[in-house]
Amino acid sequence: MNARVVVVGAGLGGAKTVEALRDGGYDGRLVLLGTETERPYERPPLSKGYLGGSEERDAAFVHPADWYARHDVDLRPGTTVTGIDLRARDVLDASGTRTGFDHLVLATGSEPRRLDVPGADLDGVRYLRTLDDSDRLRASLTPGRHVVVIGGGWIGLEVAAAARTAGCEVTVLVRDPLPLLRVLGPELATMFSDLHRGHGVDLRTRTDVTELVPAGDGTHVGAVALADGTLVEADLVVVGIGAAPRTALAEAAGLHVEDGVVVDRHLRSSHPHVLAVGDIARAEHPLLGTHVRVEHWANALNQPATAAATVLGRDEPYDRLPYFFTDQYDLGMEYVGHVDHGYDEVVVRGDLEARELVAFWLRGGRVLAGMNVNVWDVVDDVQALIRSRAVVSRDRLADPDVPLASLVTAG
Ligand code: NAP
Repeated sequence: MNARVVVVGAGLGGAKTVEALRDGGYDGRLVLLGTETERPYERPPLSKGYLGGSEERDAAFVHPADWYARHDVDLRPGTTVTGIDLRARDVLDASGTRTGFDHLVLATGSEPRRLDVPGADLDGVRYLRTLDDSDRLRASLTPGRHVVVIGGGWIGLEVAAAARTAGCEVTVLVRDPLPLLRVLGPELATMFSDLHRGHGVDLRTRTDVTELVPAGDGTHVGAVALADGTLVEADLVVVGIGAAPRTALAEAAGLHVEDGVVVDRHLRSSHPHVLAVGDIARAEHPLLGTHVRVEHWANALNQPATAAATVLGRDEPYDRLPYFFTDQYDLGMEYVGHVDHGYDEVVVRGDLEARELVAFWLRGGRVLAGMNVNVWDVVDDVQALIRSRAVVSRDRLADPDVPLASLVTAG
């Protein structure tokens, strides 16, 4: 039995790692270090339910406040780790304290990519990553305010939906011809642009932001300037242009880092006593036959069980398919699978116009990924279809009367 496990990063991945270790019978020392002063919380509510006002703040926390003490977890919020010494097997934090480990789990997550144009540091220019960011943004979404969202990814669209629902005037500036284009492809990305336009969002595509222009007071943002000369008035700007994995510590320690900490199927890094979970983990995926790094909640939720198993000497590879979900207005969706090297067709089962469907991305007749929109309880069947690698009949796949489960074997 290992005596000391240190987890760096007190977000969902870190919190679930200590939970899985205790659940798995680990009774040694357990230290959870996190920069933020809040105890671990989940991020989906920050841009969905909590931001939109339908969920309580408390619902975001992973555990009740007394859980850590009750499980003998030494949670140290407000602690920034500044270095990892692999030889001495300890981590150094900003206060100068060294904490020794037998196993180290890195769960440092990612940070928002910053907009690099003049005026980007004006007041009223916001990012959304922390609970504190969400608190502030929530308070700012008042009826009639003009919110300009830069970026047509998940943050951009979820914030747009929350802001519109709160009665703000909303403009979304997207660089590509469609929002979510790279993730979904044109067929389904169009559904999201139609959704937002239908809710009164001024969604502008093929835009290039060149400057954030101050209002009369010179300190607060007043407009967003575009490359075509247009000025879009703004009371508030929210930037959602992607995130970068926080790998600086791992890199400085000499671990193998390549757009993420490279880990094996047991989530072990290039050092056998150091593991990584969540956004930063570029993990070998047994089913997909490649390394994948997935910046979504489900990874941070589920990888910790594998990391804990590895620490405890059990052989439980991580082979879950990537999964994520969104809620925007009255649209709820779940996506499972991985479309990496492209797809050659999309098959829709259901009604795209009514936004009630399951979409499938295929290559060579095999399902790579599926997305259910306002249709529920199908994720297990979609996963089974992907895992089976069965060559499916398009007609049967598109036919809602054909049970998905029957396609797994029937082909
Ligand atoms: P994202 O989903 O990766 O989307 C970023 C978008 O910004 C992309 O469409 C990207 O376009 C665009 N972009 C990049 N640089 C730009 C620039 N300089 N100007 C304008 N657009 C630019 O990232 P996000 O929305 O910022 O979210 C941050 C992280 O939180 C991501 O990891 C995301 O997965 C996660 N998140 C997930 C959910 C969910 O699963 N429902 C919800 C919220 C957040 P290109 O693709 O062309 O680069």
